[in-house]
Amino acid sequence: TTLHDKPLALVTGGARGIGRAIAERLCADGFAVVVLDRERDAGAACAAELSRQGYRASFEFVDLSDHASLGALVERLPAPSVLVNNAGIFDNKDLFAIESRDFARMMDVNVTALFLLSQAAAKRMKPGGKIVNIASRAYLGAKGHAHYVASKAAVVGLTRAMALELLPQGIMVNAVAPGGVETEMVARQSPEARAALLALQPTGALGKPADIANAVAFFASPKTDFIYGQVLVVDGGKSLGGVAV
Ligand code: NAD
Repeated sequence: TTLHDKPLALVTGGARGIGRAIAERLCADGFAVVVLDRERDAGAACAAELSRQGYRASFEFVDLSDHASLGALVERLPAPSVLVNNAGIFDNKDLFAIESRDFARMMDVNVTALFLLSQAAAKRMKPGGKIVNIASRAYLGAKGHAHYVASKAAVVGLTRAMALELLPQGIMVNAVAPGGVETEMVARQSPEARAALLALQPTGALGKPADIANAVAFFASPKTDFIYGQVLVVDGGKSLGGVAV
C-alpha cells in the first residue's frame, strides 16, 4: 500500500490506548496514518488491523527518548499534513520522592520529543498543516505527580508558542487535555489511585479513548482553520470541580 494518495497523519504512541483510537479515527476521516511507537508488536498489529479494514496505515519504530533519531525519522517519511503528539509517560510519585532523573525522563519524552518532532514535521508541512498535542487536564494542577503536571503544563506552553511561530506558515497548533481515560496508563495504577480518579469524575465514569480521538479529529480537520494555540479539555466535567450526584 502507498501512503501517497491521501493526506498523511503521524500519530505517536499509536500502538495502544488513546493513540490507537486517534489512528483509527484519522483513518476513518480519510488520512493515511503512520503509527509511531516503541512497542513494535503492538504497533505493527495496529497498522495491520487498520490495513485489513481497508485503510492506509503503517508502523514505524520510534523511541522518543532517543532525540537524535527524531529528525531523520520525519525526513524518511512522506511530508505529513497532520502530526499528533500523543505518546506520553506517567508516573505517580509524591513530591519528595521525585528525583532529578525522574524529572528528566518525564520531560525527555513528554516535552522535548514533542518539540523536536513538531519542529521536524513543521519544516515539511504545507499551509493547512495541523499539529495536535495531547496534554492532560493535570496541567491545571494535580496531586501525586508534580513532574507529570509540569510536563503537561510545558506541552500547553509549547502549543501556544508554536501556534504563534508557525502561524505565518499556515500551520495550526492546538492541544487536547484529557481527564481520566480508560487505557493501560490508568489500568497500571493502584486500586486506590484508580478509585480516587473515578471519585473525581462528575459523570461517574472515565472517558473512552474515542472521546479524545473525536476532539483530535476536530483539530486535525479544516473546521479549525481559524483556531490557534487552544487547549480543549475533554474530561467529562472533572475540571469544573463538581462531584457526582
Ligand atoms: P498508554 O500508556 O496506554 O499508551 C502510550 C503509548 O505511547 C504506548 O503505545 C507507548 O508504547 C507509547 N510510548 C510511551 N513512551 C514512548 C517512547 N519513549 N517512545 C515511543 N513511544 C512511547 O497511554 P494513554 O493513556 O493512551 O495516553 C496517551 C496520552 O494521553 C499521553 O500523552 C497521556 O499523558 C495522555 N493522557 C492520558 C490520560 C489517561 O487517563 N489515560 C489522561 C490525560 C492525558
